[in-house]
Amino acid sequence: MMKVRRYLRGSGRVLAFVFIASVIWLLFDMAALRISINDVNSQLLKEQVIREREVFKQQSRVTQLMKRGFKNPVQRVDLAVTQAGKGPLSLGIRLAQVYRQGGRKEDKKENSFEQRGDNLPKADRSKSVASKHQQGAALQNVTSKHGVPAKKKAVNLDLNEAKLEKNRVIDSSNKVTLPAVLSNKTQVSPGAQKNKYAPLPTSKKEPIKTGDAVQGTLDKMDSKTNEKVKDELRKTGTKVSQLQAKEAHPVKTTSKPPNKDVKEKDVNIDKEKKQVENIDKSHKNATKEPPKPVIKLQAGEVSKDNSTAVRKPGVHKVLPLDVTLTPRDVNAVGQFGQAAFVASNEDAEVRKRWDEGHFNVYLSDQIPVDRAIPDTRPEMCVQNLVHNDLPSTSVIFCFVDEVWSTLLRSVHSVLNRSPPHLLTEIILVDDFSSKDYLKKPLDEYMSRFPKVRIIRLKERQGLIRARLAGAAVAKGEVLTFLDSHIECNVGWLEPLLERVYLDRKKVPCPVIEVISDKDMSYMLVDNFQRGIFKWPLVFGWSALPEEYIKKNNMTISDPIRCPVMAGGLFSIDKKYFYELGAYDPGLDVWGGENMEISFKIWMCGGEIEIIPCSRVGHIFRGQNPYKFPKDRQKTVERNLARVAEVWLDEYKDLFYGHGYHHLLDKKVIDIGNLTEQIELRKRLKCKSFKWYLENVYPDMDAPLVKAEGLVFNRGLRKCLNLRKSSLSFEICDLSKQSQHFNYTWMRHLRQQSLCVAPQGKGNGFALQLCDNTKPELRWFHKSSNSALAEHLITEFVSHHMCLEAGPQGDSLHLNPCVPSNTFQKWQFTHYHAL
Ligand code: UDP
Ligand code: MN
Repeated sequence: MMKVRRYLRGSGRVLAFVFIASVIWLLFDMAALRISINDVNSQLLKEQVIREREVFKQQSRVTQLMKRGFKNPVQRVDLAVTQAGKGPLSLGIRLAQVYRQGGRKEDKKENSFEQRGDNLPKADRSKSVASKHQQGAALQNVTSKHGVPAKKKAVNLDLNEAKLEKNRVIDSSNKVTLPAVLSNKTQVSPGAQKNKYAPLPTSKKEPIKTGDAVQGTLDKMDSKTNEKVKDELRKTGTKVSQLQAKEAHPVKTTSKPPNKDVKEKDVNIDKEKKQVENIDKSHKNATKEPPKPVIKLQAGEVSKDNSTAVRKPGVHKVLPLDVTLTPRDVNAVGQFGQAAFVASNEDAEVRKRWDEGHFNVYLSDQIPVDRAIPDTRPEMCVQNLVHNDLPSTSVIFCFVDEVWSTLLRSVHSVLNRSPPHLLTEIILVDDFSSKDYLKKPLDEYMSRFPKVRIIRLKERQGLIRARLAGAAVAKGEVLTFLDSHIECNVGWLEPLLERVYLDRKKVPCPVIEVISDKDMSYMLVDNFQRGIFKWPLVFGWSALPEEYIKKNNMTISDPIRCPVMAGGLFSIDKKYFYELGAYDPGLDVWGGENMEISFKIWMCGGEIEIIPCSRVGHIFRGQNPYKFPKDRQKTVERNLARVAEVWLDEYKDLFYGHGYHHLLDKKVIDIGNLTEQIELRKRLKCKSFKWYLENVYPDMDAPLVKAEGLVFNRGLRKCLNLRKSSLSFEICDLSKQSQHFNYTWMRHLRQQSLCVAPQGKGNGFALQLCDNTKPELRWFHKSSNSALAEHLITEFVSHHMCLEAGPQGDSLHLNPCVPSNTFQKWQFTHYHAL
């Protein structure tokens, strides 16, 4: 005690005082800090509550819509509906944030599989191709003409096979191939179900704020009025374009001097400039980093390499660059990707203009060409790292008679949401459009964007050769092809380029989201969707099998191996594109090119992936809005036949066997010379189609014959036997090869190279060398579900004639078909596809 007192005397006392004072100060400090943290927390909480309330309010306004051609309810990204003339329902809400909470693995079940069970089970597989694309389109008029040869018409009435084929053809008549759109979360305005274009404002849209130069002027665009274009051009380009012009071409900028009315724009430009400066900084820093780590993936590996990349130097978080995040006019029609409607008294106008693009052109023209859309990426994408030294890309848009507002929106979405240093240029390939506004007015409009180049084809080449023309002049290391009616979402580009960077043989595709053709809203699609094909090379979407997702422990942001790309949107290393021989230039206009490039990529050593962190909206149209120089159906069929002949090997029988027998008749169609394509395949030492099916698309059913084994006659209770070039009947014996026959996709009843054929016009039959082009060798045969189930019906004669065993078992005849006649009923040991 004495010792303590001594310490507290003199200088000791001072020291003690200082010590106690500091402790008290520290305590106060901590308390203050705590209070301020609490403040921040409660502020955040408040904001969150407000936001959630807003969302809840919006959600209660929406209801379900069944999308045309789809069994699944549509998930709308828009939480609100804008009416032309009225503003959005809540200002400044960052809708984007709401949607990013995309399901993790657990959510997926709810969002995807339960709703979309039709995608998965084998039995229902036919339904998984929700609606058809190219071929479907091709088949639009096929039902009576070419789906089945005309000769068979009468037979079709009784034959299930023919009916099924017909149904398939009808099913496939819808050109649109939409990915499954998410269900159950938000829905559309109740008005949507009752009236396509209601509810209805009185005035077309909000008056455009002066000062809001870009928005205002762009909104005024009318595909038909060149005057408006000129008017608009006077007001200079968009804020982004100016910015990009400066950033991308600091010296040689060709953009016109800003006009007087740029105050507001200047603000935006400053903001964006900073954004870009930051990007540039990170880019510059990046170049100081050690050389890039090369991460090679095994083919077939489900990528986890983004996380690998995280640990490597020279990476940054995907740039959230989006100059439309704070749009100039939050009240604009369709702003934030919301559904928009026009007044019912404008219905006629909507209808009138529909055919210009086969979507709501009238409405599209009222929506800002640089509208904001919600950031629909899975949440974790924001955290993903990409390399600092990604290759830059040329974006290629081909178009023929594209609607003005959608073409511009496509271009602006690229300019607005791509890191400038990664965008070498935008190439617009005009495939000999006939619309005047796509000529001089487009040149003038685009002239202020130094990155945009327009090339014009002197005659109509079609999408495939137009893309080749764009690729031929592209300067970027990577080619990115996009359709001309799309909207690129935030952060869309880097994740694509990252995949090419990691492996130049990777061909990444963004998730294609749906921009409604009716109300122009931006809609989310289901997770884990990939592009597939069904016979006869019909493109569709299907969810990854659940076991596959589990087995590979996939999350919703992992790249998805994609057997067939949809075709319109993808990035590819330019050199690799040419190494692959690019597209078959013999493909005309539209259709089948996605099959061609997909098979080529996979079979010749590459990979196609869908990258969930890259999202691009696309307007799926019910019909091609442009004309085909030749018959549309024949064009697509011819393209597909070229693809089948070059890539499908023995599986091409499945293609022809699914309603395309008529393409085997060289008189019907000339598919052109294939020598170069076949040579290319040899030169590249590409793998077989069998390999592709087994390794890339193992869940595809592709039996090489429809039925095989013994051919049992029900009346005679014996089996068909072929010995020394003559047919007879014997007691059935599986061990005897002479009793084994195939019933093929060509509808041949064959053993080795010999086919059973009716002879002449009488009731005889003969054995002939099989020949796919000869219709007289084809027999209809169904195992069940038809009045003439189990009959073998010849296609050769106009009236129904069936193969019949003589009661003595010593003869075979062709007789008029009788459903109950058991001597006309034949059964194969195994059926694979009936
Ligand atoms: N396209 C073209 N020339 C043609 C056909 C199509 O340049 O002969 C363009 C078209 O304008 C679009 C792209 O190619 O930008 C893809 O065509 P479309 O959108 O009709 O295909 P879909 O999306 O329906 O498969
Ligand atoms: Mn398209």
